[in-house]
Amino acid sequence: MTGRRYFENRGAHDPNPDRQEVDDLKARVDLVALLQKHGVTVQKQGRGFKALCPFHAETTPSLSIDPKKGLYKCFGCGKAGDHLTFLQEHAKLSFAEAVAELRRHAGTSPAQAEPVPITKKKNRSPTT
Ligand SMILES: [Zn+2]
Repeated sequence: MTGRRYFENRGAHDPNPDRQEVDDLKARVDLVALLQKHGVTVQKQGRGFKALCPFHAETTPSLSIDPKKGLYKCFGCGKAGDHLTFLQEHAKLSFAEAVAELRRHAGTSPAQAEPVPITKKKNRSPTT
């Protein structure tokens, strides 16, 4: 029952993000802000961040977050990963949904408030 089936689900409406886009999204979305959006209480500690681990019950924060690397690791239960693993394991999203969620975050991040250029719409709807 691990969420590793997404490779089999490619097809239908798979956005099929490439590695570069995923890296770009992770660079643009603040991992700390993402966790906070999903109800994780994050505290600044030293040069990093600590949080109560959302993957196991605890009263002392043992989830360590490195927003620069975009990684988290729990020293209590051993859960570790990045934006996408968090969204998949905590928010129970599929890989494609997690990428879409990151795209949403990247697009609405105030720090990245660039005007979106209007591109000509090509007729590429795959609805046949
Ligand atoms: Zn944990």
